[in-house]
Amino acid sequence: MNIAQLLLRSATVYPERPAILHGAQVLHDYRTFAGRAAAIAGGLRDRGYVAGDRVAVFMTNCPEYLEVLYGIWWAGLVAVPVNAKLHPRELAFVLADAAACCLFVSADLAGETGPLVGCLPLLTPGTADYDDLLRAPPLALQPRAPDDVAWLFYTSGTTGQPKGVMETHRNLLGMTSCYFSDVDPVDPADAIVYAAPMSHGAGLYNFAHVLKAARHVVPVSGGFDPAELCELAESVGRLSMFAAPTMVRRLVEHVAASGADPRGFKTIVYGGGPMYVEDIRRGLDVLGDRFVQIYGQGECPMTITALSREQLADRAHPRWAERIASVGVAQSAVEVRVADADGNAVAVGETGEILVRGDIVMAGYWHNPRATAMTLRDGWLWTGDLGSLDADGFLTLRDRSKDVIISGGSNIYPREVEEALLKHPAVREVSVVGRRDAEWGEVVVAFVVGAGVTSAELDALCREQIARFKRPKEYHFVDELPKNNYGKVLKTELRQRIQ
Ligand code: AMP
Repeated sequence: MNIAQLLLRSATVYPERPAILHGAQVLHDYRTFAGRAAAIAGGLRDRGYVAGDRVAVFMTNCPEYLEVLYGIWWAGLVAVPVNAKLHPRELAFVLADAAACCLFVSADLAGETGPLVGCLPLLTPGTADYDDLLRAPPLALQPRAPDDVAWLFYTSGTTGQPKGVMETHRNLLGMTSCYFSDVDPVDPADAIVYAAPMSHGAGLYNFAHVLKAARHVVPVSGGFDPAELCELAESVGRLSMFAAPTMVRRLVEHVAASGADPRGFKTIVYGGGPMYVEDIRRGLDVLGDRFVQIYGQGECPMTITALSREQLADRAHPRWAERIASVGVAQSAVEVRVADADGNAVAVGETGEILVRGDIVMAGYWHNPRATAMTLRDGWLWTGDLGSLDADGFLTLRDRSKDVIISGGSNIYPREVEEALLKHPAVREVSVVGRRDAEWGEVVVAFVVGAGVTSAELDALCREQIARFKRPKEYHFVDELPKNNYGKVLKTELRQRIQ
């Protein structure tokens, strides 16, 4: 089934429900939303694009983002949403790799993009060309097979060139049903706010809200502004969002400092990077039981494990402290295994690579059989993440295998060191990486954001908590950590700084 069927269904059954909001202002109901998508589909078909062609979307968050995506799917085409913070040269790589037939680009990005994309047709919301598209005769929803690609999702490419993950209509439907069973039931009165880039996790959560004919809120700022979000929570109400842990921390700090009323937030789903224990404890204290954690990756979108609102709220549980440090349990439509190098499950409590199997696992990498064969083996997705399972099925993530530091022959998981350093009240953010060293192989180096803290204090703190050999040998005090558009710390860049 074509994933755009979700929109057709909601527009048929609930045509008058508010669908797209810009800030607190309702722009379109479901009838209009679907009508615009069908017109965009018609316009794309008139331009000669046929089922399976790739259409790239290089747009900052805006109210047109969803109608563009649905217009693409409605016509049976493949959407290639691209991170709006990419350098135009990186965008050019993605466009060439995907062999995109045209590009939707938002007005703010059109100027710098134009010269680099050659003769590729550009479509910009707010221009006469885009209005033409909307005047095209609407196309009937085009059928798609479950294993046809819907969303070509380019990995962030922090190590090497980005790869196009083929997410199929089946994958996206499976992911959506897991949202209801493992993340959060959605009520039609709910609203999802896109405070993180719609080209990534935040955008993937649109489907659950389209299916329930709930509201989609694009902040006027187009991004993450804690004060704006708190105002939207009050005026729009029942607001859910997907946020990277760094965003959660900033929202929590804002609410704590301003005394804003958090009751308009329904659910804050966090994931995409490590949430440190100190941060989630504080988040729960300040915002209440509004959090759900997910662990996923482009190759198995948003759907490997989840730590539910109830599990996060269950402070009386004897293993609560361990559980909130975990990423929760396997989501209901996937199997999760922690395995040795041969793919055999390791014992409870032992660390190995995390493998996933199920309908949500990608079809493979676009035109890259070599990378596909390395990542999809014997029916399992090899995530490249290391972790361990406890007897109750809770998965604790260590680190990406490439981030593990091997010093004097021992494995050191940066996450453990980071958690120890974050116990210092003046440490706001930290990232631990390895530096090549002739004697030890690698040594531990910490980058710390925080005023008035000394390396001697941090060393003392580490000695209280972790084995001596895991202590950082060097501290770098910095104003901020380098992060990508999705809020992930760029460890590769930190490693380059110190090599
Ligand atoms: P991406 O494909 O860009 O979404 O990145 C996926 C990677 O982010 C995963 O393979 C993990 O290494 C990391 N990640 C995702 N969710 C979490 C989480 N809840 N906690 C820690 N790391 C995470």
